[in-house]
Amino acid sequence: MALNPRHAVCTGSFDPPTLGHLNIIRRGSNICERLTVGIGINPDKTPLFTPDERLSILRSIVDELGNVEVKCFHGLAVDFVQECGAAVMLRGVRSLTDMEAEFTMTLANHMLCPEVETVFLMASENYTHISSTLIKQIAHMGGSRAGEQLERFVPNEVIEPLLEKVR
Ligand code: ADP
Repeated sequence: MALNPRHAVCTGSFDPPTLGHLNIIRRGSNICERLTVGIGINPDKTPLFTPDERLSILRSIVDELGNVEVKCFHGLAVDFVQECGAAVMLRGVRSLTDMEAEFTMTLANHMLCPEVETVFLMASENYTHISSTLIKQIAHMGGSRAGEQLERFVPNEVIEPLLEKVR
C-alpha cells in the first residue's frame, strides 16, 4: 500500500502533554491534510500517566482540530507511521541537543523505512524550555501555587489530572 504524503504522524511519550507539544500538533495540522498523534507505550519506562489516561487527555486537547486523531502504539515509531498509512514523521526540536538525538534517530528510521520522511518543526520561542520532565517537577514541588504555575506550561485539560497524581 502506498503511503500518503499528506498524512503525518507525531509520536512521543506525552507524559503529560505540554503547550510545546500542542504547538507542534497545531502547526503540523495546518500543513498536512491529516495528523495522527501516536502515544508510544514503552514497557521499560514507568510513566506518570497510563496510556489510557494520556489518550483521553490528548483527545480532549485536540478535539477542536478537525484533522487530528490520537492513538496509542507499541513498538517502533517508524512501524506505527507505516501502519497508519502515513509517509511523514513529524518531530519538534527545541535545541541543538534535541537535534543531535533526532539526527541519529532519523538516519536509523530512514534505513528501516526509506519511504517515511522525517519533517522537523522548530519549537516556538515561548515553548523551547518546556518538557514533560519540567512539568512533573513543578507539579511535585510547586506547593500550593503549582496549579497557577502550570497554566503557563500545559493545556488546561492537564492541570487537574496532574495535580491529582501528585497529591
Ligand atoms: P519523546 O519521549 O519521544 O521525546 P516527547 O513526548 O518528549 O517524546 O515529545 C514528543 C515530540 O514533541 C518530540 O518530537 C519532541 O521533540 C517534541 N517536543 C517536546 N516538547 C516540545 C516543545 N516544548 N516544543 C516543541 N517540540 C517539543
